Amino acid sequence: MKLLLSILLWIVSLTTFAGEVNVYTHRHYDADKQLFAQFERETGIKVNVVKAKADELISRLELEGADTPADVLITVDAGRLVRAQEKNLLQAVSSKILDANIPSHLRDESGHWFGLTTRARVIVYSKDRVKSEELSTYEALIGEKWKNRVVIRSSANIYNQSLLASFIAHGGKDTAMTWAEGIVRNFARKPKGNDRDQVKAIAAGEADVAIVNTYYIGLLANDPDENNRKVAEAVGIFFPNQAGRGTHINISGAGVVKHAKNQDEAIKLLEFLSSETAQETFAEANYEYPVNPSVAWSSQLKAWGEFKADDLHVSELGKHNAQAVMVFDIAGWR
Ligand code: FE
Repeated sequence: MKLLLSILLWIVSLTTFAGEVNVYTHRHYDADKQLFAQFERETGIKVNVVKAKADELISRLELEGADTPADVLITVDAGRLVRAQEKNLLQAVSSKILDANIPSHLRDESGHWFGLTTRARVIVYSKDRVKSEELSTYEALIGEKWKNRVVIRSSANIYNQSLLASFIAHGGKDTAMTWAEGIVRNFARKPKGNDRDQVKAIAAGEADVAIVNTYYIGLLANDPDENNRKVAEAVGIFFPNQAGRGTHINISGAGVVKHAKNQDEAIKLLEFLSSETAQETFAEANYEYPVNPSVAWSSQLKAWGEFKADDLHVSELGKHNAQAVMVFDIAGWR
């Protein structure tokens, strides 16, 4: 009887879904769960998710080769999408919907990957000890004035590698070296922890400025834990380089896996994630910026204000990654 019931349930589960799509993702945010559930309801396509760090997922795709069950790879930065593309793990997709929804500098020109959200890497400062008028550019943070006042996470982190890659793309290797060495000189402590920990260090009085991704401030400001909300209240957000190239942005994005078995479903999922409703959820629930220009910003994003974003093609962040890692190493930024 029990067996019969489970067979029946199995048949029901097979008939409820019109197909499936297997996703390898590095995104670790609740918003994604909501979005996949919505996609399942709207299309009848089941979304199976494997979560791990992007480098692990990339290694896994390499090992699995043509036998991979994965259809879609999602990462939290452009650098790793370019790495997956260079390893020939993604396929070129052509979709009028994706091209219309995503500006060209936020996707691979041959369709191997597409930006789904942007995240600004901004300066966060102590409201008690720093006035926003004292801030201007990333470059200005290497001045003597900021000695022992700057915290930022390790150079092993891809968000920093991409930020430095943007320096290389704009000004060359020497400019990047000068900046990295200058920031190291001004460290308030050796790099440790994630972006949130840098903001906490400012709230705790260990440092006065940090460089972090915007959405972590949104997450802290809306955290159920009152201590975290207080951390967010203690800091201000400053968008650097507004008079010049603009604030550095990175993407979270996705590509269709080269050996995808569910190619149509994979493309449908990406199209859905670039749609207005999905983009609203990304922005609303995880405080990221929509890539789709026709989507309105959430109230939190509006509160931070409009800013000029660096419009460098995000593939440049991947192209200069190896050199950025080398510069960090020579500069002694661990
Ligand atoms: Fe993150």
